[in-house]
Amino acid sequence: MEPRTIDIKGAREHNLRNVSLTLPRRALICLTGVSGSGKSSLAFDTLYAEGQRRYIESLSSYARQFLVQVTKPDCDQITGLSPAIAIQQKTSGWNPRSTVGTVTGIHDFLRVLYARIGEQHCADCGAPIAAQSREQIIEGVMRFGSPSRGHTRPARSAGSRLDSRRPGRRPASSGGAARVALLAPVVRGQKGEFRDLFAELLRAGFVRARVDGRVVDLADDLALLKNQRHDIEVVVDRFELSEDVRPRLAEAVDVALKLGDGALLAVPADAIEDRARQTLFSSRYACATCGQSYEPPHPQLFSFNSPAGMCPDCDGLGERSDFDPELLIPDPRLNFWAPCVAALRSPPGKWRRHIYEGVARHLGVNLSQPWNRLPESARRALLYGTGDKHLTFEWKWSGGVWKHGGVFEGVIAELRDKYRKATASFVREFYEKFMRKGPCPSCRGLRLNRQALAVRVPIAGAGRTWAGCGPSLPELCSLPVDLAAETLSALRLTPVQTQVVAEVLKEVRNRLEFLLHVGLHYLTLDRAAPTLSGGESQRIRLAGQIGSGLTGVLYVLDEPSIGLHPRDNRRLLASLERLRDMGNTVIVVEHDEETMRAADHLVDFGPGPGVRGGRVVAQGTTEDLTRCPESITGQYLGGQRQIEVPTRRRPVEAARRDRRTPVRRPRASSRV
Ligand SMILES: [Zn+2]
Ligand SMILES: [Zn+2]
Repeated sequence: MEPRTIDIKGAREHNLRNVSLTLPRRALICLTGVSGSGKSSLAFDTLYAEGQRRYIESLSSYARQFLVQVTKPDCDQITGLSPAIAIQQKTSGWNPRSTVGTVTGIHDFLRVLYARIGEQHCADCGAPIAAQSREQIIEGVMRFGSPSRGHTRPARSAGSRLDSRRPGRRPASSGGAARVALLAPVVRGQKGEFRDLFAELLRAGFVRARVDGRVVDLADDLALLKNQRHDIEVVVDRFELSEDVRPRLAEAVDVALKLGDGALLAVPADAIEDRARQTLFSSRYACATCGQSYEPPHPQLFSFNSPAGMCPDCDGLGERSDFDPELLIPDPRLNFWAPCVAALRSPPGKWRRHIYEGVARHLGVNLSQPWNRLPESARRALLYGTGDKHLTFEWKWSGGVWKHGGVFEGVIAELRDKYRKATASFVREFYEKFMRKGPCPSCRGLRLNRQALAVRVPIAGAGRTWAGCGPSLPELCSLPVDLAAETLSALRLTPVQTQVVAEVLKEVRNRLEFLLHVGLHYLTLDRAAPTLSGGESQRIRLAGQIGSGLTGVLYVLDEPSIGLHPRDNRRLLASLERLRDMGNTVIVVEHDEETMRAADHLVDFGPGPGVRGGRVVAQGTTEDLTRCPESITGQYLGGQRQIEVPTRRRPVEAARRDRRTPVRRPRASSRV
């Protein structure tokens, strides 16, 4: 049976004088006394420390090596202790990726909300996404190998394009009749061995599959790691694309769509393992305007901590270091061949020189001129490229002139490529001297990839804002909590959708309401946790705990009322009571009178600070304390002693430093 009390025998941390004490469990307990009287030593350095230590001891030795060892507090015995969680006012210890949304758990529920009712728009052209018909998919596969779908490039283009990692990127083709393979995705990132699935596919007449990117024979004994996530795509058929195969192709598309739950992949038959060259077709999800296909949204897509959702160019951090023209060109009086771009170190070799000469001819400039004499447009083009424009380059040799074409992506693209490929740290450091940190240009600091940024929830009366639909997840998270709550109450949903998201919406609303109740209406959900003040941090942590629904936990808080408006303080107390009613023990170290009066059990430490303290002077209800003449807190609570009324409002920090006043009256009545 669960113990009903926490029994402490012989606590001696810091100035505690062999304190023995019995505390009720599942109660709101307030520890009082002047600062330095020993209440924090008991709450944090004894009870919380021991709870933590026991928790760590209960873990495997493997897990323990990652945690800081907590030494046993100086205490003879503690019984009836639960796992302990401290909700302190410290501002340190946050993960740099944490935000108000992630700490409170709101972000997790919003991800589910967006996955369930979010409306995908095309990341390329902004059009709403509709499903592709079977006929459109067949046409798409037929066109898969046609040369018009890719552009040819020179053998060595100047500056390679960074992988944009867009869904359904089209392959470059080599012309001629293309051979294509159709694959049906049957497992997407799920754990398991899938023995039954392989047997079933084999029985159905399939021979090969692509497992985690590798082509395998289904007849082989496939031993997949049970606890790892796998991607499995069945090879449905392969074709030489021509009008003759159309009937067979149509049949294969039907089979693949059925197996792949509405999705299929087309990939060059001679490069099935090359995922970069595959195209995704979906009978559910594709842009009718530009043909781009998408995976249906899932919660991971909206996580900037997950590879499925993070912006690939900044790894979900929202900021990125990139080459800065000012740092790259310290002396603009030099010319391009010198080279004025300091990171290039030496004049270009023969091959690069003919590429740059081709670009200069296209731009109509002479690169022997000083950099600062070149027109601004030419300088930009040399650094950032000439876009998709097809340029002609001339390679002169003894046999004549060889002309070839291609695109120019700019000196900065070349440097990014070199930086990305550099493995030696001194090489990376060399390039970093020319880089500056700024918002990531790909996601504009919003941390998610292009597909995720183009999913919106429908809001009634969105008008022309939010693309006429509603906010994307980052747009919603950039609103203050009160506006975010208001926006979510205007969701435009069908009766079925309302049912599907009822639970999720309830969780989101509860947490938003809590933030509103404790006076944090002005915070945005994307606010970085490390930038919060101590009081804000504590209330955010509390919101996460209340939402977590844990029971049987010992919560320890230090002065949660600090800096709160009296109205917000009452709401905070209500939430502490809620935490208690959920079956937890809540211990609060507090000077606030309202909190003391709300507590089920009070313990007054003292009588003085330091060596004059360290003892329990009185404990019990407020009445018990007022009856004890030795308890200064009790005297104040009973009105036998008056506190000085401050003549003007003191800043929060000053109130925190105060060492004399054991009881802080509710601020509304103590202000003149
Ligand atoms: Zn589109
Ligand atoms: Zn980014």
